[in-house]
Amino acid sequence: MKTIPYGKVYKWIGVVFFTSLFFVGSLQAWQMAISNITQEGQWQVKTLVYHRFGDNRYPSTNTTNEAFEQQLKWLQQNGFTSVTASEVKRLTDKDEKKYVCITIDDGYKSFKENGFPLLKKYGIKSTLYVNTESVDWGDYLSWDEIKELQTQGVEIGNHSHSHDFFLNKKPEERLLYFESDLDLSEKLFKKHLGVQPKTYAYPYGEFNAEMMTLLKQKGYSMAFAQNSGVWNESTNSFAIPRFPMSGNVSIEKFASKVLMEPFRVRFNGEGPFVINQDGSVEIELMYDKEQYNGIVNYFVNGEVYDKPKDEEGVIRLNLHVPQDRRRTIFTLTTKNKDNNWCWKSNLIINLNVVE
Ligand SMILES: [Zn+2]
Repeated sequence: MKTIPYGKVYKWIGVVFFTSLFFVGSLQAWQMAISNITQEGQWQVKTLVYHRFGDNRYPSTNTTNEAFEQQLKWLQQNGFTSVTASEVKRLTDKDEKKYVCITIDDGYKSFKENGFPLLKKYGIKSTLYVNTESVDWGDYLSWDEIKELQTQGVEIGNHSHSHDFFLNKKPEERLLYFESDLDLSEKLFKKHLGVQPKTYAYPYGEFNAEMMTLLKQKGYSMAFAQNSGVWNESTNSFAIPRFPMSGNVSIEKFASKVLMEPFRVRFNGEGPFVINQDGSVEIELMYDKEQYNGIVNYFVNGEVYDKPKDEEGVIRLNLHVPQDRRRTIFTLTTKNKDNNWCWKSNLIINLNVVE
């Protein structure tokens, strides 16, 4: 068995995959307060991603004004401090306070019209990820509007130029294409805002190791993915999870996600898994068993997946992913020693399904 240099008592466990953002038991987690007891060096920041606000034409990517206000009130009442993406790196008391980082992807006009006024009302910070090719077009904000939001304290991040599916490019062309797309977006940010954002959000949450490395080389400090989970000290800064908050999210579900604790699991590889030619995917994972109560729940596409056989801390699964869906999400939940729910997920991508 291969060993992984990840702290002391980490053990290999095997795997699965999934596609869901919901799980039984979240209501229980909602009732529990976040524990302030952390092991030395541990911290967590709750990261959320939104798209449209008060725009009922697109229910799956929309957050109603009523729901958003209720969520912001909840954050305020429950003692959360908001931070922008780049601020997280500079925090020195992450292990002491409850932090939330609100991100908004795509730069739709409805953010300025409906989302931002509510954030302003509650004094909550946010980071807007802009895909530069769409600016000034249709439902998207104009550069003047983005500049105005920036002036009012919204941090602007890079969400690519084209919002393309970079993994669809041939492997030999992919990185060059990603780099030229990045260069183009940076030129536009510089031209219209005077600055180049140094945090990134991958379109569709699709990326690979070479894209992560390139962003790092280009001076970026972090990049957000789209699998759900809690950002913590063991998170790769170029694969930061976010809980999706678009669609019909009840306040109970919102609270359960914000109160979720990180499940500090390491997978075999960084970023999304790509399905093999034969439709299978092998995932291995490891975590410190001593931090948890030992029971791990597996979900694939929202469905409970049979717990794999644990061979002395090693679980191996060879999963066959639905052939008709591009993105499948694999989720793991467990409880920690304080009896709080913990969460970890990852994307599994089927490149044969072209979007
Ligand atoms: Zn997007």
